[in-house]
Amino acid sequence: MSFKALLADKAGDAISASIVDFDEKDLMAGDVTVAVEYSTVNYKDGMALTGAAPIIQTFPLIAGVDFAGVVEASSYPGIQVGDRVVANSWGLSQTHHGGYAQKARVSGDWLVKLPGNISTKDAMALGTAGYTAMLCVLALEHGGLTPERGDILVTGANGGVGSIAIALLSKLGYRVVASTGRPEEADYLRTLGAAEIIDRKTLSEPGGPIASERWAGAVDSVGSHTLANVLAQTTYRGVVTACGLAQGLDLPATVLPFILRNVTLAGIDSVNAPQAVRLEAWRRLAIDLDIEKLARTVTMVGLSDVAALAPKILKGEVQGRTVVDVNA
Ligand code: NDP
Repeated sequence: MSFKALLADKAGDAISASIVDFDEKDLMAGDVTVAVEYSTVNYKDGMALTGAAPIIQTFPLIAGVDFAGVVEASSYPGIQVGDRVVANSWGLSQTHHGGYAQKARVSGDWLVKLPGNISTKDAMALGTAGYTAMLCVLALEHGGLTPERGDILVTGANGGVGSIAIALLSKLGYRVVASTGRPEEADYLRTLGAAEIIDRKTLSEPGGPIASERWAGAVDSVGSHTLANVLAQTTYRGVVTACGLAQGLDLPATVLPFILRNVTLAGIDSVNAPQAVRLEAWRRLAIDLDIEKLARTVTMVGLSDVAALAPKILKGEVQGRTVVDVNA
């Protein structure tokens, strides 16, 4: 039986992606087969499909780092036919066929059963970006932050991680300040729960090693000078999570925020996060996210739209979250 898939291939240095009829028998090994309903477009998908970073390690490969759907066959203990499941990252779109397809076969270890109030579409409106935003919130809490401690900064505010971090943190009672290069989208950010909007230029240029204390905590998906400045402005015993590199992968900072202000810099990796952490993140997303707000971040597309979106997300031209209906 064949199904539609977005297959990435490589000729020389150039990566191409085209929609093909893919034979189910050519899927890789796995003990669960899923009828995929939705996937999504993350920054990492943009890097994979443009070749901006060597995400895809074996060609040809079905791209897409996320999928959600319904289990069609399973020999994995605890996962039954008919279960609604989500897969985020692991080897998807790196070494294993990914989510831009109507079918996926993976190890049951990679799957999380969706909480009752999260649909497969919601799960992809969240995607790796939303699940990563939740990992950031968990890390802030692990560092001891509470809303009373002061303002939380979210950088890359119009992006996937940023948008969902704003929605989560505001629902949890934090006063959220959103840093963006798109101030014209202020209304969107306020709807998500931002109390204040700042221009990202105030953070993106080289700054001093230590500055006036401003942020009790931060969710940073930008890196580079922005992260260095955020650290320099973080209050005593504040917590900053670093998950992204939209500005750059450098970190031109000093140790002063750590040794003078006891600031914690928490690294966030969604790809190889242990299953227990993933389960906790999805459990909390089901409780702490206003699904109504999530809907406002979503643009729906079909499989044939994905390749054109890849360069756009890298240029910061995509707002919020893009959900791919693989059956459209
Ligand atoms: P998006 O493209 O949706 O969002 C990134 C946002 O960053 C943009 O919307 C823009 O926000 C801002 N931005 C873009 N370019 C620049 C720049 N040059 N300087 C400053 N800000 C910029 O991506 P995601 O939210 O999906 O991912 C964000 C980052 O997090 C990426 O680097 C991604 O690779 C990383 N990531 C890491 C994960 C992990 O496991 N560690 C998991 C998921 C994502 P605005 O227009 O508001 O300024």
